[in-house]
Amino acid sequence: MVMEKKNKNIGLGVRAPEKTCKDRNCPFHGTIKTHGRIFTGIVISSKAQKTVTVKIKRLKYFNKYERYGKKRTIIHAHNPECIDAKKGDVVKIMETRPISKIKNFVVIERVGHQEVKEESYEAVEKEMKAEKEPAKEEKGR
Ligand SMILES: [Zn+2]
Repeated sequence: MVMEKKNKNIGLGVRAPEKTCKDRNCPFHGTIKTHGRIFTGIVISSKAQKTVTVKIKRLKYFNKYERYGKKRTIIHAHNPECIDAKKGDVVKIMETRPISKIKNFVVIERVGHQEVKEESYEAVEKEMKAEKEPAKEEKGR
């Protein structure tokens, strides 16, 4: 007799994926527990196995300029087989225990899809460097 493995309800108002998987690092079918922060971002790379690179836009307050500037952050998140997010997908990711050296987030829901321009890790990194300081005009005073 085989027990039907049910989707775990992880709360948070998140839809459980239709597919099931045997990934033990899956928040729905595995043993991993999520806690902490939730971000919504866009997948810029899904080349690595079961890992997605997610770009998150956020606002940061710059004391020097007394205003908010746009910042981007790149987070590597675990991509469970049942969700299988692809490049361009808008995903919700949630903090969890460290899964590997660089991963301590896991994809919990696929929200939508967006066209991604030729955007590589390097390109975004460059962008991030350029956005360190929101204004450059005040130089030379
Ligand atoms: Zn799963």
